[in-house]
Amino acid sequence: KEVDQIMDTLVESLHEYFNLNLCVVSLYDWPNQEFTKSKTAGLDEPPSPAIESAEEIAVPKEEEPRVLNLGERLLVACAEDMKNEKKVFLTRDQIREKLSEQGMEMPPDCMSATLVPLIHAGKFKAALCMVSGDRSAPFPEKDMHMVADLADRVAVVVSHAELFQQVERQAVTDPMTGLFNRRYFQEQFSKEIDRFQRFGHPFSYIIVDLDYLKKINDTLGHHFGDIAIKHIANVLKRSVRDVDVVARFGGEEFVVLLPETDLQNARMVAERICSAIRAKEVEGIGTITASLGLATFPKDAEDKDKLQELADQALYLAKHRGRNQVCSVSEDLMPSLKDGQPPSSVAQQPEKAQTKAESEVAQAKLQETAATVDLDLVAEKGILGVVAQIVKGVDEKDAYGNERSPRAYTIASRIAQALRLSKEHAEIVSLSAVFNNLGKLGVPEEILKKNGPLSENERDVIKRVPALGAKLLEPARMLVKIGAVIEAAHENWDGSGYPKGLKGEEIPLESRIIALVETYVAMTSDRPYRKALSKAEAIRQIQDESGKRFDPRLVKFLISILQKES
Ligand code: GH3
Ligand code: MG
Repeated sequence: KEVDQIMDTLVESLHEYFNLNLCVVSLYDWPNQEFTKSKTAGLDEPPSPAIESAEEIAVPKEEEPRVLNLGERLLVACAEDMKNEKKVFLTRDQIREKLSEQGMEMPPDCMSATLVPLIHAGKFKAALCMVSGDRSAPFPEKDMHMVADLADRVAVVVSHAELFQQVERQAVTDPMTGLFNRRYFQEQFSKEIDRFQRFGHPFSYIIVDLDYLKKINDTLGHHFGDIAIKHIANVLKRSVRDVDVVARFGGEEFVVLLPETDLQNARMVAERICSAIRAKEVEGIGTITASLGLATFPKDAEDKDKLQELADQALYLAKHRGRNQVCSVSEDLMPSLKDGQPPSSVAQQPEKAQTKAESEVAQAKLQETAATVDLDLVAEKGILGVVAQIVKGVDEKDAYGNERSPRAYTIASRIAQALRLSKEHAEIVSLSAVFNNLGKLGVPEEILKKNGPLSENERDVIKRVPALGAKLLEPARMLVKIGAVIEAAHENWDGSGYPKGLKGEEIPLESRIIALVETYVAMTSDRPYRKALSKAEAIRQIQDESGKRFDPRLVKFLISILQKES
């Protein structure tokens, strides 16, 4: 602001004192080798561009080239001389020549021009152009001393202002990406809420999280992780308007504030960002994607923390739905939280499980119910989805209806987020809130629904719920190992199998065993397309495959076991 005022005062005073037609001062930007901001006295400045309307929001504006006035053109033409600390005096003819080089005609009332560099500490900071309509000779030396003195003082102010701006910028900027940092973003966010209170304009908030960054870091190294982060930062810078605020919130999380933007327009922006991120391959990495959460103020929430928290949850939903997509609070998150009714088949809950055998009975029920679960939930959460489904069934028997699990999950995950737990830690907390009632699988329904005080025996049954819940989940630890065994069960001893084409002892022993068991059981069972083979025929065929599909040593074991059996 101070620089603006000083520049204004300089050109206006000189314009008046020397009775000039035109006086211009322009700041010079070294990195881009061009004049940037100018102040002019004595001529109308080119009209400033009209303010964008809300409808134009989805498309960021290309910057239009600035129309230069006569003084600015002369400064451009003489910049190189001035960089060498030279003053330049141009006669009418010289002005005509300089202008015609830039395709501009000579204005009638223009007799001479005096150009003065503004230098501080040996650096060319800005330049002054004084165009006179009545003088064809240079100004007297005394006057030029005064101008040079003023120019030096202004150069000092410009230098200080640049330094100050630089420090100010560093305080609000993330050094790696050049985007704003979290602190600045939060300030702008609060200002936007204030503006809403005064003018009632809604605005939107987008959170962007790079997908699978850990994998990029682990497989290619942190350097490439950083490149992926910078790629997203660049896409974000290009995809928004000047009035939008983009910041790196931390790590690989970015946020965008879209003033005066409703859900529909914000969705367009978010989808555009999402597709721009994946559109261009990143050198050394390939295609990268990101997931986005979108919330609109005040529709989705009326305070800042709540809005950010909901957008975070929408982002998690986008991750759970397979990443590389946008989820909004009102269109995706809210409907998904309302869902969650267990399918009717799961509603058949265990009847009475007797105390001693209750664990086994409950285990059996767990396996039985597993066959009839919601496959979408399973696809999203794997085996945990199966268990969550069972818990929902328990909730129904427990007279909670289908409310308890989704509510417990949501509240627990909000607390976990408020505590800034890691995603994995938060997921453990949230799922534990759901699974907490799993042990009730072993409690008879009449106890769960009893309307009145429980007897001592009944209380004992209830007290077993936590231990039973834990016991039911205990074998889950083995599932990871079983998963690995199953994955390699179609590999062949001679390397001709799939999915990895493993060979011989590269195939886990357990997988080699179950490959043999699977084949023998299938051969000796009736199948829709053929009758069961006799044991002798099955043994013969398996022997044929010994050393090809099967581990020869295991084939011998199988045959000796089968022979003993007979
Ligand atoms: P998801 O798709 O679920 O987002 O998985 P993800 O692998 O991206 O995992 P997550 O978001 O949970 O973890 C973020 C990782 O990003 C962890 C951290 O090591 C890494 N990371 C955070 N900041 C930086 C950074 O500045 N540079 C690099 N290279 N990695 C970072
Ligand atoms: Mg991530």
